[in-house]
Amino acid sequence: MRSPPETGELDTPSRILMGPGPSMIHPRVLRAMSTQALGYMDPSFLEIMDDIQELLRYTFQTNNDWTLAISGTGTAAMEASVGNLVEPGEKVLVRTTAYWGDRVAQMTRRVGGEVVPFEVSGTDPLDPDDVAEAFANNDIDVFYICHADTTTGIRQPNMSELTDIAHEHDAYTIVDCVTSLSGVELHVDDWGIDVAYGSPQKCLSSTPGATPLTVNDRAREKIQNRDSDTNSWYLDLDLLMEYWGDERNYHHTAPVTPYYGLRESLRLVAEEGLENRWERHREVASELKAGIERMGLEMAAPEEYWLPSLNTVQVPDSVDDTAVIEFLMDEYDIEIASGLGALEGDIWRIGCMGYSARRQNVACLLTAIEEALEAQNFDVDEPAIEA
Ligand SMILES: *Cc1c(COP(=O)(O)O)cnc(C)c1O
Repeated sequence: MRSPPETGELDTPSRILMGPGPSMIHPRVLRAMSTQALGYMDPSFLEIMDDIQELLRYTFQTNNDWTLAISGTGTAAMEASVGNLVEPGEKVLVRTTAYWGDRVAQMTRRVGGEVVPFEVSGTDPLDPDDVAEAFANNDIDVFYICHADTTTGIRQPNMSELTDIAHEHDAYTIVDCVTSLSGVELHVDDWGIDVAYGSPQKCLSSTPGATPLTVNDRAREKIQNRDSDTNSWYLDLDLLMEYWGDERNYHHTAPVTPYYGLRESLRLVAEEGLENRWERHREVASELKAGIERMGLEMAAPEEYWLPSLNTVQVPDSVDDTAVIEFLMDEYDIEIASGLGALEGDIWRIGCMGYSARRQNVACLLTAIEEALEAQNFDVDEPAIEA
C-alpha cells in the first residue's frame, strides 16, 4: 500500500494577475461558481445554457445560431475551429511566423490540411495588400486571423477588409478573439467573420474550461456538408450543437461550474455595456502606458495598433527582464510575463483584462516597476505616478 501524501488545505498566495492570462476572476463569478452542481439535462441547467448563448451573441455582436461554449481552453476552441472548417487537402493561409499562427499551422497539418505559409516578418499586423496578393497566388480555402495578438500586443486593424478579400475568393475566415472578446471593439457579424472564438479567462475574467465559439450560417453549411467526418469526435461542432440546440442530445458532461462562471461573467459584460467595457480597458491601459512612458520606457507596439488588453513594453538594454518579473512577484505579488518565442528578453507583457483592468492595480504595478528598476540602478526619467 502506498501511504497518502501529506498536503495542506488549499491555501494560495493572493496575487494580482496582470499577465497575458489568466486574469483575476470577478468576485461575482467566484460566488456563482460555488453553486451546487446540476445534472446536464436538468431543465434549470438547460436554461443556463440558453442564457449563455444569448449573452454570447451580445458579446460577440452576432446573430449566429451556432454560438456555444467549448469544453476546454482557448486552444480547444482553436482546434475545434480548424478541425471542423478545414477538410483534408484544403489550403489554409496562416501567418506561420507568428506564435498563434504557427499553432494553427500545426493543427492544420494534423487534420490533413495544407498550410500556405504567410511569412511576414516582424510584429506588424497583416497588411491587406499582402493578403490580397497571397489570395491571388494561391487557391486558399481558409484564412486564420489573430485579432488580438497576446505575444506582440498588436491589434489587427482592417478586419472587414481582410474578411472581404477572403470572401471574394470564396474562402472562410477563422478569427482568434481570445484576447479581444469583451476587452476591445469586436463586431463578428458586421466584420463578416465566419468563425470566431474567445476565452473565458482573459477579458471576461471567468475561469478556464468553457470557451466561447460562434459560427455563421455559411461556415455551418460548409461544416455540415463535409465529405469526411471531423476527425475529433469530442470537438465535432455538429454533434455539440445537438446538445446546445433543440435536440438536447447527450454529448459529454457539461463542465457545470465553468458554465456558471461564464454565465455570470457575461452578465457582467451586459450590465457594464460592451462600449463602456471597451472604454474602461482603454482608459485603464492608458494610465499604465502613461506611467511607463513617464519613467522613460517605451511601449513595443506602435500606438495605432496598440492593444489595451495586452501591453508590451520594451525592456531597456541595461535591465534584466526576469529580475524585474521576480521582483514584482516577490515584493508585490504581481504577475506579469516576459516575451514569448522570438521576443523573449526583449519585452514585458502586461495584461489589462476584465477584473484585473482596474486603476488600483495599475497604480500598484507602476510603483512596483519603478522600484524594480531602481533596484537595478536604472534611472527613471520621472516618477511613474504623477504627483
Ligand atoms: C491565450 C491565447 C490562446 C490560448 O488560449 P488558452 O486558453 O491558453 O488555451 C489563443 N490565442 C490567443 C491570442 C491567446 O492570447
